[in-house]
Amino acid sequence: MKYYRPVSEPELLDLLGTLDQSNYTLLAGGTDLMPRFESGMELPLHLVDLKGIDCFSGINDRGDNIEIGSLTTIDALRKSDLIHQSFQALWQATDQFAATQIRNRATIGGNICNASPAGDTLPPLYAYQAQVRIIGPAGERQVPIADFISGPGKTALNPSEILFSVILPKAAGFSTFYKLGLRQAMAVSVINFAVVAVVDREKKVFNKLTIAAGSVAPTVKYLNKLAGALQNNGNGIDGIIDLVDQDISPIDDIRATAAYRRKALKNILAFTLKELVNKR
Ligand SMILES: Cc1cc2nc3c(=O)[nH]c(=O)nc-3n(C[C@H](O)[C@H](O)[C@H](O)COP(=O)(O)OP(=O)(O)OC[C@H]3O[C@@H](n4cnc5c(N)ncnc54)[C@H](O)[C@@H]3O)c2cc1C
Repeated sequence: MKYYRPVSEPELLDLLGTLDQSNYTLLAGGTDLMPRFESGMELPLHLVDLKGIDCFSGINDRGDNIEIGSLTTIDALRKSDLIHQSFQALWQATDQFAATQIRNRATIGGNICNASPAGDTLPPLYAYQAQVRIIGPAGERQVPIADFISGPGKTALNPSEILFSVILPKAAGFSTFYKLGLRQAMAVSVINFAVVAVVDREKKVFNKLTIAAGSVAPTVKYLNKLAGALQNNGNGIDGIIDLVDQDISPIDDIRATAAYRRKALKNILAFTLKELVNKR
């Protein structure tokens, strides 16, 4: 395996243009890739390390939105005042992500491109209606994150394309994230979800509500049936929480059964939504 470390975007694009597309792998923090290599995955002929390219990192305020470079680490997000103050759900996801060593290496771009149904930054990014910015030999394009991830480990990246950044509109409203694992730290999510809500405190109803849940389908899913039924509806949550079932398709795996995932999601989500509508 040959290792490359380009130091600029043009150098990277030139390099990718010279490599056989089926034989190179992009490396960010390596926290998904290295365990896979160690467990016997066939090594690529070429390993292209993105970490030397400075413009792929950083959290930039762009007025109506913020742009997070794909190589920004989970730890940098966790330490960001901007994320902490304005994107609580994403901040909570970074705070509950793995442990210090992994957070120092793992990047948001790696979490997105790994496209795991259990990726912890994904439900917040979906709930904020994030867009991903992609660069490649044909130029640049931007797509909603929900269109970017098409299945476990599958993304809309074309050959020689790279995830450059993720763009979050500054959300009106409050957001929160929940992760259920088999233990408190270093756990893969059994379920996770993020909620972005605008609440009418007097009427105790949601004026706006977006819910995105992970580990309950091959990709993160919007719980649109429940969210739609709850908007401007003061009749309570318990009677309609089963609408969640219409948007999810969990499976049994080594961490939990599908039935447990359904029950846990509905119980914890109902509790979270009641807290939000009554207290915020
Ligand atoms: C002990 C441990 C604990 C973990 N805990 C958690 C957890 O709590 N929550 C969670 O969600 N995940 C967890 N993970 C998984 C992993 O840390 C994350 O998915 C992480 O965000 C991956 O980022 P990375 O930079 O290390 O990606 P890498 O391993 O470098 O890359 C992952 C994939 O994305 C591709 N890629 C990376 N960057 C780009 C880019 N800019 N453009 C195109 N393709 C790209 C790579 O080619 C590769 O296919 C854990 C992993 C370990 C080993």
